Amino acid sequence: FNIHNVSLTISAASSKQYPDTDWPEIALAGRSNVGKSSFINTLLNRKNFARTSGRPGKTQLLNFFNIDDTLHFVDVPGYGYARVSKKEREKWGGLIEEYLTTRPNLRAVVSLVDMRHEPSTEDIQMYEFLKYYEIPVILVATKADKIKRGKWNKHESVIKKALQFDSTDDFIIFSSFDKTGLDEAWRVIEEFID
Ligand code: GDP
Repeated sequence: FNIHNVSLTISAASSKQYPDTDWPEIALAGRSNVGKSSFINTLLNRKNFARTSGRPGKTQLLNFFNIDDTLHFVDVPGYGYARVSKKEREKWGGLIEEYLTTRPNLRAVVSLVDMRHEPSTEDIQMYEFLKYYEIPVILVATKADKIKRGKWNKHESVIKKALQFDSTDDFIIFSSFDKTGLDEAWRVIEEFID
């Protein structure tokens, strides 16, 4: 997959600001620090495009990344900051839920979990939410380079069991360090956008 141009279309604070393009959109969601920015940068073959590790408590926005004027990646702010107030969390929930449940352009959500650990409560809630609304999920298990290959199956089973993973969803083992899963990720995303 050869990307030529990427740019930020808009950081949207409300649905009024969503782009009026009819391009397909792939949203990306995960706990803060899961490796989401690194995943986006790896797919786009850029070093520092999606800013890494947004700070907690910052205004929560949906970032729409224009990919060659054909597709938007929609970067959903990371969840799981304990320090964020209840009010902030509610604001986060409102914007994201509205986007995920009403946006016609949305084709699938890349849901990222850290392959090293059991999914967190928020990871499980996110997956349940997506299944409830029948939104296609591409599950990406990040930081695979930190786990010995012989243990990959074990970690995959633990994650799938905790999520009650639907076997019709895609599950991709990924590393932005050694690019494990990069081709598969693009292949799966392309299936959703054509
Ligand atoms: P985000 O907060 O979800 O956007 O996460 P980042 O992409 O900023 O990554 C969080 C931390 O995890 C950083 O220190 C990254 O260097 C590290 N990280 C991200 N992806 C990988 C990976 O594939 N392998 C390893 N070993 N570390 C990673």
